[in-house]
Amino acid sequence: MNVPEKVKIIDTHVHLYPNEIVPRFYAWIEKKHKLKAKMPIEWEKALEMLREMGVNTIFNLTHAIIPEHTQILNKWQGLLKENYKFITFGAFHPENDDKLLIEAFENGWIDGLKLHPPVQKFKPNSKEALRIYELLEELNKPLLIHSGWFPDNSFEYADTGMYDELIFNYSFPVILAHMFLGKTKEIERYLDARKNVFTETSNALVKMEVFDKGEKIVWYCDDVKRIIEEFPNRVFYGSEIPLVWWDPKETLLNLLKLDVDDKIKEMILYKNAEKFIEKYLR
Ligand SMILES: [Zn+2]
Repeated sequence: MNVPEKVKIIDTHVHLYPNEIVPRFYAWIEKKHKLKAKMPIEWEKALEMLREMGVNTIFNLTHAIIPEHTQILNKWQGLLKENYKFITFGAFHPENDDKLLIEAFENGWIDGLKLHPPVQKFKPNSKEALRIYELLEELNKPLLIHSGWFPDNSFEYADTGMYDELIFNYSFPVILAHMFLGKTKEIERYLDARKNVFTETSNALVKMEVFDKGEKIVWYCDDVKRIIEEFPNRVFYGSEIPLVWWDPKETLLNLLKLDVDDKIKEMILYKNAEKFIEKYLR
């Protein structure tokens, strides 16, 4: 299936990393999890694939796997921003000094922050996390944060309830990634409660079932369509490209195939992201 030519696409969940960090992702997918990377992770090739799919712009997300990566990644985001005008959600690590995040915003390298609790090993309601939220509140900058099941450690650092402090106590914009993978129903409570909370489709539209300690984790479940129809202006399209061990086009094709109004599809594909950029990033 081809994407209709007129349709604009903004992909809000893409990971273009500098070449020196790319081997870590191959090792994570192929050595640690014994899966097969389904597309090149090198940023130039990944960008080519996105262009082929008809993606016009991206939110590029670079969480710091280790604290030493923060500044390198934020400078990298600055370069991408300068050359491609991408929206950039940059890096910070609970072990970093505040000044690294402030510097990245002041220099215009990043538009928002990407946190990945299961990779960075902190709970979203921990003291370390709250310290970062305080800083974002002060700077009034958006956060995109992983939510839901993760292959390395299940729900240990990303379970429902752990996001209550973030959602209920702060007013900066928050994008909960993956529609709370594995427990999508639970995201309803957060979207209902606060208008500054959003989510995106990456992994949530991938037909995958994983058995984790005897429990079945269903990625693409009935709740995905329900949440999209219930909150049509709060969901963005996101793909997780290039860190995929499934067909990189699957998320887009499943969204296009979804039995919802074409107007809603357009909102998910780009209109909601455009509004978000207009409202929070200009
Ligand atoms: Zn991701």
